[in-house]
Parts: sequence; C-alpha cells; structure tokens
Amino acid sequence: MSALTDLIYAGSNAVAGLTEGAVNDAIAKYGEETKVAYPDTAYFLPTIYAATGVKVAKLGDLTACVGVLKSLISGKEDLGEALNAGLATAVGAEILEALKYVNGAEPYANESGIGFVPDPVIRSLGVPLVTGDIPGVAVVLGKADSAADVAAVVKDYQSKGILTFLIGDCIEQAVEQGVKMGLEMRVVPLGHEVTSVIYAVQVAVRAALIFGSLQPGDLAGLLKYTKERVPAFVNTFGALNEVVVSAGAGAIALGFPVVVDVDLGENQVPGALESVTDHTMTVKRSLELRNIKIKVKELPIPVAFAAAFEGEIVRKADMQVEFYSGVNPTCELVTMREPGEIEDHKITVDGPDIDSGDKEYALATYIEVAGARMQKDFESVIERKIHAWFNYMEGVMHTGQRNQFRIRISKEAYEKGLRMKDFGEVLYVMIMDEFDAVVDKCQITLVTDREKAQKILETEAMPAYNARDDRLASMTDESVNEFYTCILCQSFAPAHCCVVTPERLGLCGAVSWLDAKATYELNPQGPSQPIPKEGLIDERTGRYEKVNEMVAEATHGAVENVTLYSILEDPMTSCGCFECICGIEPSSNGFIVVNREFKGMTPAGMTFGELASMTGGGVQTPGFMGHGRHFISSKKFASAEGGIERIVWMPKELKDDVAARLNKTAKELYGIDNFTDLIADETICEDPDGLMAFLQEKNHPVLKMEPLM
Ligand code: SF4
Ligand code: ZN
Repeated sequence: MSALTDLIYAGSNAVAGLTEGAVNDAIAKYGEETKVAYPDTAYFLPTIYAATGVKVAKLGDLTACVGVLKSLISGKEDLGEALNAGLATAVGAEILEALKYVNGAEPYANESGIGFVPDPVIRSLGVPLVTGDIPGVAVVLGKADSAADVAAVVKDYQSKGILTFLIGDCIEQAVEQGVKMGLEMRVVPLGHEVTSVIYAVQVAVRAALIFGSLQPGDLAGLLKYTKERVPAFVNTFGALNEVVVSAGAGAIALGFPVVVDVDLGENQVPGALESVTDHTMTVKRSLELRNIKIKVKELPIPVAFAAAFEGEIVRKADMQVEFYSGVNPTCELVTMREPGEIEDHKITVDGPDIDSGDKEYALATYIEVAGARMQKDFESVIERKIHAWFNYMEGVMHTGQRNQFRIRISKEAYEKGLRMKDFGEVLYVMIMDEFDAVVDKCQITLVTDREKAQKILETEAMPAYNARDDRLASMTDESVNEFYTCILCQSFAPAHCCVVTPERLGLCGAVSWLDAKATYELNPQGPSQPIPKEGLIDERTGRYEKVNEMVAEATHGAVENVTLYSILEDPMTSCGCFECICGIEPSSNGFIVVNREFKGMTPAGMTFGELASMTGGGVQTPGFMGHGRHFISSKKFASAEGGIERIVWMPKELKDDVAARLNKTAKELYGIDNFTDLIADETICEDPDGLMAFLQEKNHPVLKMEPLM
C-alpha cells in the first residue's frame, strides 16, 4: 500500500475507534434519549444530514451513524476509496464535536475558538461571496515552525478578503503576531483540536443546503456542489499525523485542495494535495489551485486597504481623531456636474488636516462627478459606497451616512502617516474603478473648516437629500417602465432570480431598484437586466408575462411563474441570504416576519433558522418568503393577501427598526395610527395563544380579514 493511503486509513480507523467509544460512553452516561444538537441550526448534524439524510436528534441516533462511518472505510488500495475514508473522518469529527454540545453545553464559551458556526452567519456570507468581496475560504490548520510565517500567510489572505478559518495552535501564533480576528475581520478561530476542522466543513455543507437546495442524502450532489461552488482550500502547517492526513483526504473528497508545508515527495497528488515548503509561496499556490483571482487595488496610501477591514472597530482609547455629526457639521455628498465644471483627480483639503492638534473635526466629503452616461439617480448609488470604502482602510471606522455619521481614525493609522488627502485618493481610485462606465471625471473636496462645512451641509447637502427622498417616495412600481432582474446569487443558488422593483428591493437588502438600474448601466451584460413592464396578467398579485419570461430565462427554466406581490401564489424565490423571512401564522391568519439576527422562538413554532430552512436555493415555497428589511414598510408587502395589515408579530428589534416607516405606510393605506403598537413581539408572546390574546386585546385589523387559506 502507498504510504499516503496507509496514513489515511490509519487516521480514519483511529477516529472511528474514538467516535465509537465516545458515543458508547455518552449513551452509558446520559441515556439514548438525551438530545444532541448544534446550536442555532436547522440542519441537525449538517454533514451527516446532507450526506445521508439522517436527522440526528438524540444520542441513540448516533449508533447507526457510527455504522455508516465504519462502512466508508474499505481499506482498499485505491485513492478514491481512501478519500471516502477521509469523509468517514469528517463524520467522526462531526459526532465527536457534537457530543461536546450534549445537554445544551457551551463547550467553546471559554475557548479561543468559536466552535460551531450558526446558520445565520452562513446566510450573511451569501452576498459577499457572490460579489467577490470574499473571493475564497481558507482553512489553516496546525502549528507552524515560526509564528511569523503563519501570521504572514493569514494576513495576506486577510488583505485579499479571503475568509480564513484557523484550527490548532496557529490560533495563538496568529494572535501573538497581532492578527486581528473575528468574523468582521474575516479571520475566524474555530478550535484547537483537529476535530474542529469539521466546523469549516459544515459551513460548506450548509451552503449546499441553504443556497443550493441540495436534497439531504444526495451525497454525489453534495460533493459536486462543494467542489464547483465553494471556493475553499486547506493549508496545513507543521508535521502531519495520520488524523490530519485523513481529515485532509476528507477535504479533497469535497473538492478542496490541500497545501501542506512538509515535503510529501511522490505522495503528492497534483492539483489536490501539494507540498509548498516555502511559506512565501503558500498563498499564491493555494489561490491558483482553486483558480481564485484577486483584484488588487494599488492605492497610494500608508495603510492597508481591503474589504477585510470593513468591520474593524476603532475604540475611543485607540482613536486619534473623530468626525462626528453629534459634535460638528458633517455631510457626504456626490453631485453631478458638467464636464467643463470640474478638474479630474483634483483633491483638495479645505481646512485643517488631522495633524493640527484637535481631536474633533468637521467634515464635508464633497464629490463632484461628470460623465456622458452619468445620471442624477446614480449620485446616491455612488454616495452609499463611501461607507464601505472608508471602512476598507485599516484603522478607519465609518458608521452612518449622509449628514449623520461618525468616522474614527486610529492612532496606529495616524502614526503610519494617514492624512485627509488619503481619503480623497481612496474615493477617487474607487469611484474611477467601480463606476468607470458612467464617471469620466471626478473631483474631490474634503472640507474640514467648520463654517464652510456647515454651509455645504445647509445649502447643498440637505436640499439634495430632501430632493432625493422626494424622488424615492414618488418612485412606485406604477411610475416606472421597467423592473430589473438580479442573478448575482446564482453562483450559489443556481435557480434563483430576484425581481427588483422600486417598491421591492432585493431580498438581501443590498440591491434597490436604483442599484439594479445602475448595475445594468455599468455593465449591460451583467447580473441585472431590465424587464419591460409588459403583459399584465393580474394586477392584484403582480403577475406579468414579461416578468415570467425573463425569470424563466434567467433561471434556465427552473422558475416559470412568479408574482411580485403575493406570498401564497407563486411567490418570489429565495436564494438563502435574505435579511428577513415572513411566513403564515395559521391561528391568526396573519404573517409573522423574522429577521436573521433573531435567535428566539416565534409563534409559528419555528425559529428564524427553521423558517428559513423551508425556503432557499431558488425554490418557491408558498406561505414563506425571504425579503429585505425595507420591504416590510412597502405598500406592496403581501399586497395580494391584504398587505401590511396582515403582520401580527415581529422581533422587537426589527419592529423598532422599521416602526417609523411602517407606521407611515399604515397611516397612508388604512388610516391606522401607530400600527406597530398592534404588532406583538417576543417580549409579549412566543406562542399562538398568547398572540391571539394580544391581537384581540388590541383589536388588530387581521381579525376582520378573510382567512388566508
Ligand atoms: Fe442576490 Fe437577490 Fe440580492 Fe441580487 S438582489 S444579490 S440575487 S439576493
Ligand atoms: Zn442571495
């Protein structure tokens, strides 16, 4: 037998033995009926569920799983068979780790790793993965001979936006070398034991279930999905033992190449298992193996610039200076000019720079653009990107928008030499990079002079914001001539297509009608295509021949009939990354709406995750539908079923967030004041009886509406 297959089988057998022993011990200790589950998932033990369809719920269910696991280890001298044994190791790891969670234990509460990655986190990764903001996923495992080497690799991934999971002592090594961690920083420590590699595998597996509408039990389909659609790979550091090798075999079976830093000689499998002993080449080779291309932005600024820094927080103690609307006049404005009126790449700082000694400054970020194809409507599309771009600078935090924002610059960034003109450079380079199809010239003025900033705020910014708001408010589905498709999410959910209208944004919450329109103008062959508003079939449900036709085309025939305004009749499909899901609450004949962040129970008897697992992957599920937060206050929300008057329950945070807009819509449509007072939340009830009592007490309008079914 080859040394490689030998090692794989030895590792798989070791894990199988451990798993069997641990399951028997756990059953002896807790009993067969004791529950076993990972927290905050609707997919049981995800790998076992996806591969076999078995829904493990209690310890007694695991005995059969151990049998399946053992059957995967044939011991035959064949690489394919040996890779199956690698899958057995994954199943073993999944069981061993699940046992840590028996009886609701929190095994990772005091660990440097986070352990199991909950479903909502995976859903939140959908959009960044499809837009290429996260171009790939690295799994880094082991202990490097030199901490500096592993940290350099991780930082390199971070600067490229790659999401990196860490397993083993490399976690401490990275911490020691100052790697910033957390999901927002795209570097996520999972755990110390090699079995915690399963938490990375489960992310890939659930991507197939959430976005790919994979049927549980379809192992071949699962392996195809992970291989083709999950751009992951593995890097190991340090000596390999048999368990690491067999786990690596599991990764290869899923289609994830493994790069090790020891010399495997003739045991290498080109394209799947390769040795790269020079750590400065690890990243390059790993990306090549997965064919991940990184768009590098060469920016002439003294700090790093990468999407990975978007979520970085600058605390007061680490802060050099701040621009804050609560203290000083601030605004951000993109405005369209005639080409002759501005000078391209002119960057001006008007007022003191941040080294003048003050801690607080005013700031008007004043951007003038011109271009033959530029439209007034694109001003706000460009303007909204300022938030992301400023955040991409390492050591800069930006929250808010328009005239309400806070920007902090860290001492570290300041000491590296970051100054106001660098902000101008960032804006210029990014606008010319992303909006080059419509912007030919761009001039940037950063006004830190208090009086001048105040003047821009009052005389230009506020009137511009107000005019835009008026335009947005007047923009209805009736007032435009076309809607847009968005198929960005097809890289994960091949049968999904959003139809974006002025009154219904994409379900991810990130694509408004204006965004889709701009996307089309910027890239006419791109993911958003105009749908001429033609062939009205039914006004109530929002059924159009042309919409059906375009959706059928966009989904390659998977979806042929779709309505814009109904949850019950041919509702729009969901990819999986929706901000909220609404669903029928049968006892009240109403709809509940739940946001991704809410972890508790709903009166429908399901959590967000359980509700969400009923839809996704581009499948239509009448009665349930994913949508964006903003859609809740739309006049078109479930308008075929009676509209927002059907909403009976929402988590409190969501209700508070949408209250102002939702109440305004309710007043306009039905003359109801403070409609959100009639909507229950988790502080009022979590069950149907409590809900009905509340609705009756409040005399909620749903009680007088026709039954839904
Ligand atoms: Fe995905 Fe729809 Fe958002 Fe487009 S609009 S990115 S398809 S969820
Ligand atoms: Zn999506």
